[in-house]
Amino acid sequence: MNLQELVRPNIWSLKPYSSARDEFKGEASVYLDANENPYNAPYNRYPDPLQWVVKEQIEKVKGVSRENILLGNGSDEPIDLVFRAFCEPGVENVVAIDPTYGMYQVCADINNIEYRKVRLTEDFQLDVDALMKAVDAKTKIIFLCSPNNPTGNAFPKEEIIRVLNGFGGIVIVDEAYIDFSDKGTFLSDLDNFPNLIVLQTFSKAWGSAAIRLGMAFASKEIISVLNKIKYPYNVNQLTQEQALKVLANADQVKDWVNVLLNERQNLVEQLNQLPYVQKIYPTDANFVLVKVGDANGIYNKLVEQGIIVRNRHSVTLCEGCLRITVGTPEENKTLLDAMKAI
Ligand code: PMP
Repeated sequence: MNLQELVRPNIWSLKPYSSARDEFKGEASVYLDANENPYNAPYNRYPDPLQWVVKEQIEKVKGVSRENILLGNGSDEPIDLVFRAFCEPGVENVVAIDPTYGMYQVCADINNIEYRKVRLTEDFQLDVDALMKAVDAKTKIIFLCSPNNPTGNAFPKEEIIRVLNGFGGIVIVDEAYIDFSDKGTFLSDLDNFPNLIVLQTFSKAWGSAAIRLGMAFASKEIISVLNKIKYPYNVNQLTQEQALKVLANADQVKDWVNVLLNERQNLVEQLNQLPYVQKIYPTDANFVLVKVGDANGIYNKLVEQGIIVRNRHSVTLCEGCLRITVGTPEENKTLLDAMKAI
């Protein structure tokens, strides 16, 4: 893979903004270089633009070296960055599975990049041949999401590897829900696939959606291209501090995941007993997709009880489906009691 051929020429030759923190690195006693207010420490100072202290801890937890990590304002930020780095507006295109996470298409539309959807099979599996057929000389990125939202299933690793080997452009594997899956992450495969970008997030298993922190893992070369175009101080100091606290609490995250996996199992068993539940799709995520037939009716009845699930009735292949996030044992019981009473 020749990265220069994939990156937009204006981005390849871009001279990035050089911040005060880029120009002087290290410790000093008097900082008069960034037009900051000297009072109200510590938040008077700009944060580290490359968030090295946070990345050092992520390196330990994820086993990926810090130069291979980009942090963003949620994983929504790297999703937008890859369009701007690789795709020429009005000319080039990306290919994605359908249904999947909605932001890929929104970012494609914002950036005026053609978004080619390739349907999953009826049981939500990848159709690798169809994906490859949708690719042409102007395709820069293929988006895969595994475990996939809203279907919940992870794709077999061999299928994703077929895509990685068969496509000369960038392959994004969005692993937002990977902590709930036993199918395995692609983080340990970064060295084998120079065209791979893995996305993960603090918003799901790590219980930190409010701090807006997403991670992209890729080759050093890809990470440096993305670093060139991100906002200089894209992850604020409060977020970096809270991320360090959460990262120090990895055992807590494991405990939460175990509870949620047990609850998921219980939820599936109980939902299966409801007469109007037609199908519960296999899930590797912290939610279940449930075919209930009258999704709108059941959604509205739950709303009346103050219980909000996601109505996916109008999504491709998800007609009649509700997407239900696994909550605490108490929340799940409230949901199940309400659904049994319908
Ligand atoms: N990817 C997937 C598959 C998601 O479902 C979501 C959130 N719903 C995201 C990414 C975005 O996560 P973040 O909060 O990190 O922006």
